[in-house]
Amino acid sequence: MTANTGTRPERPAEVGAVFDAIVVGAGFAGMYMLHRLRGLGFSARVYEAGDGVGGTWYWNRYPGARCDVESMQYSFSFSEELDQEWNWSEKYAPQPEILSYANHVADRFDLRRHIVFDTRVAAATFDEAGNCWRVETDRGDKVSAKFCIMAVGCLSAPNRPNFRGLEDFRGPIYHTGEWPQAGVDFTGLRVGVIGTGSSAIQSIPIIAQQASALTVFQRTATYSVPAWNEKLTPEYRQSIKADYPALRAKARARPTGFYFPFNMESALEASPEERDKQYEEAWASGGLPFLGSYGDLLFEKAANDTIADFARRKIRSIVKDPKTADLLCPDNIFGCKRLCVDTGYFETYNLPHVRLVDVSKTPIERFTENGIEVNGVEYPLDAVVCATGFAAMTGSFDKIRITGRKGLTLAEKWRAGPRAYLGVASVGFPNLFMITGPGSPSVLASMIQAIEQHVDWMADCMGHMRDIGAQTIEPVLESEDAWVEHVNEVSKVSLRSTCSSWYVGANIPGRPRVFMPYIGGFPVYVQKCNEVMTGGFTGFVLEGAPASNAEPKVRFTERWRVPLDIEVISPAAVAARRVPVV
Ligand code: FAD
Ligand code: NAP
Repeated sequence: MTANTGTRPERPAEVGAVFDAIVVGAGFAGMYMLHRLRGLGFSARVYEAGDGVGGTWYWNRYPGARCDVESMQYSFSFSEELDQEWNWSEKYAPQPEILSYANHVADRFDLRRHIVFDTRVAAATFDEAGNCWRVETDRGDKVSAKFCIMAVGCLSAPNRPNFRGLEDFRGPIYHTGEWPQAGVDFTGLRVGVIGTGSSAIQSIPIIAQQASALTVFQRTATYSVPAWNEKLTPEYRQSIKADYPALRAKARARPTGFYFPFNMESALEASPEERDKQYEEAWASGGLPFLGSYGDLLFEKAANDTIADFARRKIRSIVKDPKTADLLCPDNIFGCKRLCVDTGYFETYNLPHVRLVDVSKTPIERFTENGIEVNGVEYPLDAVVCATGFAAMTGSFDKIRITGRKGLTLAEKWRAGPRAYLGVASVGFPNLFMITGPGSPSVLASMIQAIEQHVDWMADCMGHMRDIGAQTIEPVLESEDAWVEHVNEVSKVSLRSTCSSWYVGANIPGRPRVFMPYIGGFPVYVQKCNEVMTGGFTGFVLEGAPASNAEPKVRFTERWRVPLDIEVISPAAVAARRVPVV
């Protein structure tokens, strides 16, 4: 498969260096973690596999890549100056602009001097005698630190299905999540795209503009809502900047961690005419907020059927060939898999050189020298794009040999599914933190908000440990078990737990089927984290501290104070409240 980077510069291995914290990954999570650690006076080292910052936006350079949370909200909120000085050009910023933003943040906060690029962490081992993590990289570095922080990303381990005959194919094979930095010119080529998830849906309309023929191999049809992307005017940007903190606060109080107006009413209590009007209006605004048309859409199958029917009617009204339209109409729960947001996706199938191949019943048989074979038919291709997604949530953890107390590896512990208290830490792995780990809202929230909240919690925790002289922090088994149980229980109230998505690991054969992100809503989760902290780290053991857990009084970063009218809610309450987009 064609790789993202070229050759990496030689450098000698570093052996014996000691830090307060080692951070793995320099996406938004690793960058903000480094900023906070340095602010607290900790020594820190970040290792990043790529040759630049930005994580997702460094690797996913495929044509059409852009965010699906509005740019003015899909950005850091920790610095009012940063918010004021940066100008997003579009409602949904394209990948190059988000990558520029990441580079701007790295420069503005002088982060690069503590990041070592082109270096993959291969192993992290807890030294029980020394109470520290010993970290090894693929460049031969051997360093140690009191804390080891995984900022490895939820969607950073590309899924490359092992199709038969891959090595026989004469043309290049690309993965959207590891796109060549130099870009790819498909002009005049016969291109095949495998997959119809978000990455495919964004790239297909652009690839179709270049390719002489485009063949899309679809296993599962996908719902998608128009983005109606547009340029942002200076007046609009100014209207937000005039009171950015207010928008950020409103966003933090939403189940999704980003703000948009939503309707708490029931779809089932509305008349068909009212519903159609509501859906038409929401479709005309576009984007993920479409799922907030009614409050019960992800709780009641009958309610969901109404929005699914509407979306299918839209597909049929756009796609001219009825057979292709039928194939493009999903028959599963609307919004069960991550909802896609597109620009001209369904319209692309009206172009004469674009065809859709159904591989739901007869899978891709093999790659041949000249193309891809399905059901005995060879589709001739010059290049193939695998938009086949990621080993989500735990894929990048799996690639690192993480060994905790008594030689237990994280991979062994997580064999039947990930287990972590608050998605932050796991029993047996003291002082190992995970930013947006499994069991936290992570991918169900606007991720930069989720990242900032985790990083602030961890930084506050580390600062507190220093204040009281604690050596290690580790969850208590009962607390971890109870949290994992709660994460599972809450997921059951949502229709999202019922389908074969990457949220449950179902996209990769052989993975355990567990609903991995916390679906109870972002503010509920934040409140729980705050309570754990102000209770003196309830559910954790802090060892080696002469002072008690709670003294001196520990405080969480103020902006994470949850509005008082939000209580920690039970699964039943989630359902009763009809919280959209849970
Ligand atoms: P990442 O950005 O994934 O960064 C992790 C970094 O860790 C990577 O650079 C990786 O190279 C490095 N790494 C991993 N393992 C190692 C190792 N062993 N050694 C060294 N380095 C390592 N979220 C939203 O909220 N809104 C969106 O619109 C949105 N759009 C997305 C679009 C795409 C195409 C994808 C794939 C994801 C999108 N996401 C979106 C989710 C996105 O991943 C997050 O928003 C966010 O960028 C994650 O930041 P991160 O730092 O946690 O992880
Ligand atoms: P994805 O949603 O997992 O989609 C992967 C696609 O590949 C699916 O259609 C899948 O089919 C198909 N596929 C996988 N293996 C296959 C095989 N062996 N044969 C045929 N088809 C196969 O991955 P993604 O599109 O990269 O998106 C992942 C997530 O990243 C998104 O859900 C979103 O959170 C984020 N993202 C966001 C944006 C954005 O708009 N900002 C853009 C890209 C990604 P099945 O459905 O049948 O498994």
